[in-house]
Amino acid sequence: MAGKPRALIVGNWKMGGLWSQLAELDALIAALPAAAPIETDVVVCPPATLLNEVCNRLAGTPIAAGAQDCHPEVSGAFTGDISAEMIADCGARYVIVGHSERRASHAETDGLVRAKAAAAFRAGLTPIVCVGETEAERDHGLAQSRVEAQLKASLPEVTDPLALIVAYEPVWAIGTGRTASPNDIDKMHWVIRDVLKERFGRAGEGLRILYGGSVKPENAAEILKVFNVNGALVGGASLKAADFLEIIRAA
Ligand code: PGA
Repeated sequence: MAGKPRALIVGNWKMGGLWSQLAELDALIAALPAAAPIETDVVVCPPATLLNEVCNRLAGTPIAAGAQDCHPEVSGAFTGDISAEMIADCGARYVIVGHSERRASHAETDGLVRAKAAAAFRAGLTPIVCVGETEAERDHGLAQSRVEAQLKASLPEVTDPLALIVAYEPVWAIGTGRTASPNDIDKMHWVIRDVLKERFGRAGEGLRILYGGSVKPENAAEILKVFNVNGALVGGASLKAADFLEIIRAA
């Protein structure tokens, strides 16, 4: 396979972030001047309430914006939901779909996640499709089969597979301070790579696979050097510009 694809670091602010806290974003923008291009792609995914403002502030910078979820339909009577087209209309380019917090607290199925990923493509967005096993599944030796099944059922039909991103996020590592070991990450990313190659052929080799789950400045370098790790999906540590920058620099 050709060299490692360009790394991608994605910040997921979750339900965090008020207008008054956008100073952290301004600090990030100031630290990554467009005039000194970086080797890494950087995306921030604020809550929907800030997406438009974040897109405005990121215009002309090397950082892109993404949303944390989308509805599969273009528009309609879906109170409280936001379509992929509306996200693209804000100027965002990415959308996270199938995050384990949504799978768990909004009962999102693989089928729904696949429909959301397809909607992202329809709107010209890059979907970041999340998969990951629970602690009980890992304890029972089911981690790999679970992730494999989840991924196969969550991947949409695509014409350009390289415009798809997969994130492996073990549920037990999210927000807990515990990370999977580099060895476990390596094994799981190979499982994912094999599914992607089976599904997309050669293109599956270049598709980016992110790791997520308690990535922080102290462990980022070690995780990011694992062979099939092509970036990170960062929750808590993305809310502080200094921490997020350190992770970007580790890539
Ligand atoms: P965390 O979250 O970095 O706070 O563990 C990661 C995620 O949920 O994407």
